Amino acid sequence: MTEASTNASSETVAGAPRGEAVSIRAVEPEGPLVDVMNGSARWEIPVLDHGFVALVDVMPRLIPEGKTADSAIVQAARVSYGEGTKKVNEDRGLVRYLLRHRHTTPFEMVEFKFHVAMPIFIARQWIRHRTANVNEYSARYSIVPDRFYRPSVDNIRRQSSTNRQGGDESIEVKTAEDFISLLEDSEKLYSRYLELTEKGVAREMARAALPVSLYTEWYWKCDLHNLFHFLSLRMDSHAQQEIRVYADAMYELIKPIIPVSAEAFEQYRLNGVFLTSLEVESLRSGKPLASDNKREQTEWEQKRARLGL
Ligand SMILES: Cc1cc2nc3c(=O)[nH]c(=O)nc-3n(C[C@H](O)[C@H](O)[C@H](O)COP(=O)(O)OP(=O)(O)OC[C@H]3O[C@@H](n4cnc5c(N)ncnc54)[C@H](O)[C@@H]3O)c2cc1C
Repeated sequence: MTEASTNASSETVAGAPRGEAVSIRAVEPEGPLVDVMNGSARWEIPVLDHGFVALVDVMPRLIPEGKTADSAIVQAARVSYGEGTKKVNEDRGLVRYLLRHRHTTPFEMVEFKFHVAMPIFIARQWIRHRTANVNEYSARYSIVPDRFYRPSVDNIRRQSSTNRQGGDESIEVKTAEDFISLLEDSEKLYSRYLELTEKGVAREMARAALPVSLYTEWYWKCDLHNLFHFLSLRMDSHAQQEIRVYADAMYELIKPIIPVSAEAFEQYRLNGVFLTSLEVESLRSGKPLASDNKREQTEWEQKRARLGL
């Protein structure tokens, strides 16, 4: 233990009259610490044609050598007992127990900060997740860069006949090409946007003429509990493919930092199957689902298939 401060006397404590210096005790770690990002400024994965997800910071950034950032979850959970001499496998069991039983607050002790570039129509879906802290590129303050999302021909999907919100298999090439040509037309608005801002139209107005395929950027910080919630919704097959690829990339970036929590997340959340009481009853009795709702029937069929029934 070292005395970090200053010219304060050792008796000076917080709560002393204003203006008096307060002493700060800097406590040395018990052993060497390592950076969870191995000293990197950022870990980046390209996404779509002009986008990316970069992990730019983590809390905890420094962890005891030989541990992972999962240890911050364990540390928080054990605050009432003290760390003691728990073994690594006991830590693993605790993290898995916490996740299984939705003891969520220890997972909020780990935070991730990302820098992301994505099309505006994806940002609109993303921003619905209210539990993150966001700071976005200002198109009032700056001219927006000339970057538009243009899918490849085979990635242009036909409107799903079963899911009004979704697209499933690809559409015929000619129609896909027509759609790309429509996107190209909308991108041509950019040169007029530039021209009119140069003539003095305020950037905050001029941007209204640009399409939602335009890329925006933000810093996005979220704790692990809420990030798992985000990922469970946006890595799911019901999420739009263009946001799913971002969620998948984010998961790849965090996995090596919290491997124990990630494994538990995959086993208990992401790849688990939630059963309603009607489904449990159907399974128990061997009778059909006691609901005449068509969508519920379909969902039960899908779950049965996943369960190998
Ligand atoms: C496949 C899919 C389709 C969707 N379709 C549509 C759509 O058609 N139209 C549409 O508008 N949205 C749509 N959404 C968005 C969806 O309804 C949610 O807004 C979004 O997924 C964010 O979820 P959330 O509120 O749970 O997350 P977050 O905002 O991250 O919140 C996490 C949790 O915190 C709690 N919380 C956060 N803020 C509050 C608060 N103010 N009050 C109380 N509790 C709070 C809630 O428990 C919440 O579940 C869709 C989402 C998905 C994944």
